[in-house]
Amino acid sequence: MKFLLILVVVLVGVWLWRTSRPSSPKPDRQQPQAAPQPLEMVSCAFCSVHIPSVDAIQGKQGVYCSAEHLHRAER
Ligand SMILES: [Zn+2]
Repeated sequence: MKFLLILVVVLVGVWLWRTSRPSSPKPDRQQPQAAPQPLEMVSCAFCSVHIPSVDAIQGKQGVYCSAEHLHRAER
């Protein structure tokens, strides 16, 4: 009888753990992690080349691939 009680407690604990998780992996559900995009690409406002947003230089009229294009576009 004691073993049955422990088994029920463990099963309830596992059930609570599974239901409390915000996003359990399901094959029929589209996860954002399925198509990871580590870098957001932006287009240079001067030469239109695509660069990672972390490398982009923010200007008043847009983002640029280099400081030179920032100065040439916004001087
Ligand atoms: Zn550029």
